[in-house]
Amino acid sequence: MSAPLRRFPDGVPDGLLDRPVREVLRELGTTTWLRVPGTGEQPARAVATLLHGDESTGLEAVLQVLRRRPRFPFDLHVVLGNVEAALHGSGFAHRYLDGQEDGNRVWNGSSPSASSPQRRAADAVLAELVATPLAGLIDLHNTTGANPFHALVTRDDDASLELATRFSTTLLRWEFGAGTLLEAVADHAPAAAVECGLPGRQASTAFAIDGLRRFLGPRPGAFPAPEHDLLGAMRRVRIRPDVRFRFGGVPDGEVDLALVPDGDGANLREVPAGHVIGHVRVGAPQPLVVTAADGTDVTDRIVAVQPDGAVVTQEPATPVMVVRTVEAARKDCLCYLASRSTG
Ligand SMILES: [Zn+2]
Repeated sequence: MSAPLRRFPDGVPDGLLDRPVREVLRELGTTTWLRVPGTGEQPARAVATLLHGDESTGLEAVLQVLRRRPRFPFDLHVVLGNVEAALHGSGFAHRYLDGQEDGNRVWNGSSPSASSPQRRAADAVLAELVATPLAGLIDLHNTTGANPFHALVTRDDDASLELATRFSTTLLRWEFGAGTLLEAVADHAPAAAVECGLPGRQASTAFAIDGLRRFLGPRPGAFPAPEHDLLGAMRRVRIRPDVRFRFGGVPDGEVDLALVPDGDGANLREVPAGHVIGHVRVGAPQPLVVTAADGTDVTDRIVAVQPDGAVVTQEPATPVMVVRTVEAARKDCLCYLASRSTG
C-alpha cells in the first residue's frame, strides 16, 4: 500500500504558488513533501508546518517566502502536514479530524501498529528528511490561546538553541516523548518548534516570515545563540475524561468544571501558588490530571481544590499554551505548567 503522501522532489509545481492558500491546499489534497532545489553548496534545511489543521500561520509564511522564487545555497525540504483537516468545512477549523490521529504525535518511526494514514505519511516524510544531511529543521505551529511568541527545543545543545533563537529568545524545553516530529529528527539535525501565536493574525504571520528568513540565512551554527530564557520542567494539565466542562460561568447542571475564561492571559507569566484555574461544586473531586514529562502523576503536588471549589495551583509556575476552547482542551490538553528555574 502506498503511503498517503504527495511528493515533489524536483521543486514546487508550476503555477501552484500563484494561487490563494486554500486553492493550494485543494490542489495538494493530502500530506505533502516537496524539495526546493538549491545550489547544493550547503547541507539541506527543512521547514514543516500544518501538522495541525487549524494552524494556518506557518503555511502562509512559507508560501510568502517561496513566492519570491528564492535560490538558496541548500535544498529546502518543505512538509505540509494535515492538509485534509485544514481543508475540512470552513477551513483551518480542526486540529485533526474525527478518526485521525494528532499530526504531531505520529512521528515514532515505523512500528507494527504504524498503519494509520498519518503514521504512514509521517514515516515516508521522515525517510526523505533523514536521507541526506540536514543542517536544521523548523516546525511552525500556532497556539489555540493567546501566547507570546516562543519556541520549543527537545535538546539544549548550542545548535538547537541557536536555531530556535532565530525566531524567539523565549524557549521551552520539551521533554515529553510524545511522538513529535522534533523528537523524531533529534538525532539527525538540530530542530525547533515555533509557536507563532494565534492563527489568522497579521502579527503572527509577520513573526513567522521574519524568523523563517533568518532561518534561511546564514548557515546554522555560524553564530552562538544570543541571551535567552529557557523554561523547563513542563507538566501537562489535562481534564479528566469524565468531567464535563466549559470556559466561563459557574458549575451547574450542564458542567462539573467551569474554567476561568481568559486563562490564556497568564501564558508565559509566572503566577504564584493559589492561581485559579477554574471552579467545581463544593465537595467535588479534583477535575484535573497533571503529569510530569516521565509520565509520573503529580496532580496532588501541583493543583488542589479549595473548600470553596476553586481549583488552584499549589506552587509558583509559568502557564504555557493555555487553550480557550473545549475541543482544544479535549484533543490535546488544558495547558502546561513550566518552571523558570532551569533557565
Ligand atoms: Zn500545533
